[in-house]
This record gives sequence, structure tokens and C-alpha cells, in this order.
Amino acid sequence: MALSTELLEILVCPLCKTKVELKSDGSGLKCTQCKRVYPIRDDIPVMLIDEAQIEEGPESPSGETAAVR
Ligand SMILES: [Zn+2]
Repeated sequence: MALSTELLEILVCPLCKTKVELKSDGSGLKCTQCKRVYPIRDDIPVMLIDEAQIEEGPESPSGETAAVR
């Protein structure tokens, strides 16, 4: 995990400007406000609303799969 806490401090959700927090498994950054999870690719956080997936509650397997475009 190469993400620095310093970087995490300045990262905010592009939608609601709320601080994001690293998921426990390190797979993404979650906005505490809108529950969007931004993926981390090659240790680079992808802070794009289009790339984010809304995650409700703890690991609930909803019918929503990755958006295919
Ligand atoms: Zn948000």
C-alpha cells in the first residue's frame, strides 16, 4: 500500500467535497457522505464520479455490478 496518509488527507469526494477514507482492504476510497467508493489503480486513487460505485453498508452484494459502458 503506497498511498500516503498525507495524500489521503487532501483527497475529497469530487461530488460532495467530503473526505474519503481508505477501505479496510485497501481496495478503494470511500466517501463517508455519499457512500461512493473510488477505485485505486496502481496505487493511484481514481477520483472520478463515473468510476465510483455506491456501496451501501458493509459488503452487501447488491444486484449492481460494475457499470459497463
Ligand atoms: Zn461523496
